[in-house]
Amino acid sequence: MSDIDDGTAMIPMNLIDKIDELRRVCRIDEDYQVEFIKDLRNREGIPIGGRATVGGVELNAELLNATFLRHTRFPVLYLHEVAHVITFRAELFHAPDDDCCPHSRFFAVLLAVLYRRAGLLAYLSVYEFADSPENWNGRGTPPDDSLLIRRFAWIMRRSAQLAALPLSIEGIADVVYREDLRPAWIKVYQQQDEQHKKSARWLSWLWGA
Ligand SMILES: [Zn+2]
Repeated sequence: MSDIDDGTAMIPMNLIDKIDELRRVCRIDEDYQVEFIKDLRNREGIPIGGRATVGGVELNAELLNATFLRHTRFPVLYLHEVAHVITFRAELFHAPDDDCCPHSRFFAVLLAVLYRRAGLLAYLSVYEFADSPENWNGRGTPPDDSLLIRRFAWIMRRSAQLAALPLSIEGIADVVYREDLRPAWIKVYQQQDEQHKKSARWLSWLWGA
């Protein structure tokens, strides 16, 4: 591996092959750019393994060692960050109820489809579907067990249906938007509408109209 002075590191050839293979089996249409960054840190200055950007995926160059390349850590990290990019582009991050967070159930269902297709479903972690307004990226108060169990059941059921579709992962993101996220918003609007009608009826009664 030779280094470049701008803070990035070259991607080894065998890793490029691995990315191509993951794109093929997971049916990832777009070529999300992968960059290895030296000393990758989050906004708080804490070293991180990877992060998603609008254009692709940044991974920590420290991870470029033999163990990392030999084991499942790279595919898991790569697919996790790719799922973030797709979630962002498909606007799946902006969901009602508890899901306006990076690791929402909509993010996790896409990730579970990728893991299923790559034979890595056993690597789906609670961290990857446990976000709520009180708990972001595993920090804060985690949701209670009953919510996590409900989410997990939904993610397993829905990702099995979605993974079997003859669609790219980007196409599946569109399906999740149309069939899962949009109906969830419509339900919220209908409930609000119902509430407004009730308030209107109550005001009419109060004013004797
Ligand atoms: Zn994440």
